Amino acid sequence: MPLYEYRCPECDLKFEQLRPFSQADEEAACPQCQHNSPRILSNFACFSKDESGLSTSIGGDSCSSCSSGTCSTCGM
Ligand SMILES: [Zn+2]
Repeated sequence: MPLYEYRCPECDLKFEQLRPFSQADEEAACPQCQHNSPRILSNFACFSKDESGLSTSIGGDSCSSCSSGTCSTCGM
């Protein structure tokens, strides 16, 4: 299961949650105040693309089958 990052708009707490890919876009309850918190789009993708268009693997081999350039489609 991928790890996602959330930030609570109420208390500004940043937290992480493991969720199935199918629930990635759902809000997560803040562990501190239970406020629904939207996901932060962070650099958790397996590949980062710099401005020259080169892809660099930063996530190890768990997403080596991912050809789209991010791991958002492979669910690993
Ligand atoms: Zn909160």
